Amino acid sequence: MMHALCRDQSIMINEMFFNAKKDQLYKMISWSRERVPYYRTTWNLPQVSQQDFNFEFFTSQIPLLEKKELMQNPEAFLADGFQADQLDVEATSGTEGKPMLCYKTKEERLRCSMDLWSRRRSWCRTLSPESRFARFYAFRSLDRQSLITNTVLFKDNDILIPLFDMSEDKLAHYWDKIMEFQPQWMHGPSTAIFNIAKYVKDRSLPKPQIEFVELNGEYAPAEHLNLIRDAWGCKTANNYGCREFWTIAYSCPENRLHIVDSSIFIETLYNPDIDSNELVITSLRNLAWPLIRYRIGDIGEVSFIEDCPCRMKSHYCLELKRGRKADYFTLKNGQRINAIVFSGILRGLSSLDGRALIYQYQVLKRSDSWLEINLCIDKNMTRSPEEIIRIYDNELRKVIKPDITLDYQIVPQILPDPNTGKCRDFIDLSL
Ligand SMILES: [Zn+2]
Repeated sequence: MMHALCRDQSIMINEMFFNAKKDQLYKMISWSRERVPYYRTTWNLPQVSQQDFNFEFFTSQIPLLEKKELMQNPEAFLADGFQADQLDVEATSGTEGKPMLCYKTKEERLRCSMDLWSRRRSWCRTLSPESRFARFYAFRSLDRQSLITNTVLFKDNDILIPLFDMSEDKLAHYWDKIMEFQPQWMHGPSTAIFNIAKYVKDRSLPKPQIEFVELNGEYAPAEHLNLIRDAWGCKTANNYGCREFWTIAYSCPENRLHIVDSSIFIETLYNPDIDSNELVITSLRNLAWPLIRYRIGDIGEVSFIEDCPCRMKSHYCLELKRGRKADYFTLKNGQRINAIVFSGILRGLSSLDGRALIYQYQVLKRSDSWLEINLCIDKNMTRSPEEIIRIYDNELRKVIKPDITLDYQIVPQILPDPNTGKCRDFIDLSL
């Protein structure tokens, strides 16, 4: 049980953090009420003077933004004067089986990127976008004919490793390529890097000259961070973020996740269903597509650290309890697959026509040789459902070997799990 005292303390920190960001929050709320159709009409945000704008008003008068609301019509959150086709668009990987388009201006993207690079450099001074770099990919839109390839790719200073196949023979192959390439740094999801580092450590293979590893994209438990650091003798940082906001918090050498409070305000909200605090995020800078009190779905606490030896400017830190985590499954031919492959292809498909061709999906592993793939396809698309399935299948077959049956169904919707209320994008029924 979460103690009442802890809950009081969380609320106190929320209010402190709110007061520190009050002016920026006021500007964002006023802007959103005046310029963003959804907040103006559906939410009907009340007007307030700067004097009366306080924590009490913020938490009682401004609704929470549910992921579901945002996914139904992300364009309704674009501020007047911003055109979707002139913005930087990214699709989320859709952990609940639905991809979503996220918008930023080019300037905002640049600022996010500069923030991120200054944090990376605080770890490793010589790092730059020109450094030799290893990263992972879920899909590559190399050309319109091919969304993914299940091979290690090279591009300028980068080596790109596929994220979806973590079978042992593949790990060995990735490792050979990494050793040949000798990147200065690497970033990627914690489970993918952990798998490779563990493979190397278990076999006492020679260490690479990687100086810095940045974990991102999913919840990184401390054991992963420690194993990677010990296996390779490199600095290891945690970049917690998502496509909606980019970097939300970045860890320092003291292993504290400092919130990027120049662009993000986070409050915690007690959720009785899980008896824990969940994170609610408000963007402070993205004027084109402002998200207000957004329930991101991750669990954690915010703390105030007055004097962290890292001397990072942000005093508010995150302790993540749980977050997005990769699903791995095995098939009868020994393939070990990351379920991100399904959403990766989906994101690739969204990039074809600039909109989500498949609005939701769910993959059921019925047995070691049989996957059932349920897709929700919008009838008003320029491409027929048969064509969309053909493209999807063509890409998936680059990863899943032909001896596995892939069974496609077009369904009107994916129903949430009655126990959790969440739609899961991958369920292993063979367990
Ligand atoms: Zn610190």
